Amino acid sequence: MSSALNKKTVEDIEVSGKRVLVRCDFNVKMENGVITSDKRIVASLPTIKYLIEKGAKVILCSHLGRPKGEYNPEFSMAPVAECLSKYLGQEVKLAKDVVGDSAHELASSLKDGEVMLLENVRFEPGETKNDPELSKKFASLADVYVNDAFGSAHRAHSSTAGVADYLPSAVGYLIQKEIKFIGGALENPVRPLVAILGGAKVSDKIGVITNLLDKCDTVIIGGGMAYTFFAAQGYSIGTSLLDSENIENAKAMMAKAKEKGVNFLLPVDNVIADKYDENAQYMTIYSDSIPDGWMGLDIGPVTSELYAKSIKNAGTVIWNGPMGVSEWEHFANGTISVAKGIADSHAISIIGGGDSAAAVKKLGFADKMSHISTGGGASLEYLEGKELPGIACIDDK
Ligand code: AMP
Repeated sequence: MSSALNKKTVEDIEVSGKRVLVRCDFNVKMENGVITSDKRIVASLPTIKYLIEKGAKVILCSHLGRPKGEYNPEFSMAPVAECLSKYLGQEVKLAKDVVGDSAHELASSLKDGEVMLLENVRFEPGETKNDPELSKKFASLADVYVNDAFGSAHRAHSSTAGVADYLPSAVGYLIQKEIKFIGGALENPVRPLVAILGGAKVSDKIGVITNLLDKCDTVIIGGGMAYTFFAAQGYSIGTSLLDSENIENAKAMMAKAKEKGVNFLLPVDNVIADKYDENAQYMTIYSDSIPDGWMGLDIGPVTSELYAKSIKNAGTVIWNGPMGVSEWEHFANGTISVAKGIADSHAISIIGGGDSAAAVKKLGFADKMSHISTGGGASLEYLEGKELPGIACIDDK
């Protein structure tokens, strides 16, 4: 597997006067045909602006929703074209199709510095099958391919991977930044490398924990999955979340941590509740004393302090998943304390997508983080040590 850190970036390839097909992640939130969050469009602007400045003929494409391989006006890219035109201060022409006559006509009439957008790539049934015929059709529109859709980089589809078989290729700035931070932390971290993993299910994080045990100095566990580790140690966990199928895996992970000399930190105290309810009765209790009928919904204050110390001494922190039911005020303190600890530290900080990214943004700490990943699923697979097809397909430097 070649290193993602060695992939060509948009600055390593000749783009002036070239037709450049750019796979973006414009899978924006929509309600009744109106974009309700244009964050993903904004995130794609640096690469697009660079290409415009260099005088490339820019052909953008993305998926939007799940239109199931056929044209459906509900999933048209028209609102995205309009939004892009506004941000770029120039018209972004929308093709009537993905790789048909309209796309070809527009692509061949583009002048240097002009921008067009293909219709939703998932209108083509071959897209999600990574159909080589469709990949060739994408390639026939352009001279060069740039992938900047990190959110889809874990999928081997025609527009995210297959097309790179037929064109010279590079990653855009958005993927470049993901590689720099996540790839950097995995391959050449500033130590100590501390991973903080939370969230509901052990099963979702087994791959990540197992891979990170080979790389990290400290692995910190919180959230609902901590209780499966408690069960593996023989503690009573009351009605806390239990992933009984993964008790043996939890034991194996703790044994691996010991063998590798990795600090493996579990909560020493917990905020427990008498039911799974925002307004439940709650109290704080040590991990080996959870009474029957009560469930752990957050890490406790002693644990928060312990975790904060590890974070303070870290050179790099990777965080994925809340420390408790952070949606509810009484069970949000552990997550807030971790977010604050990371924000106050001098460590390189990498926040996985999803709930931890949302918590950091909600608390106003986003600017204090080195990197907030733009792809939940993709960042998890990256942390699992899996090769992402949307990056693997790109030419090496
Ligand atoms: P994930 O999607 O796996 O990152 O998990 C996020 C979800 O885990 C959030 O909705 C939290 O409410 C939930 N969660 C975190 N800690 C707990 C806990 N101790 N018990 C139940 N749910 C939890």
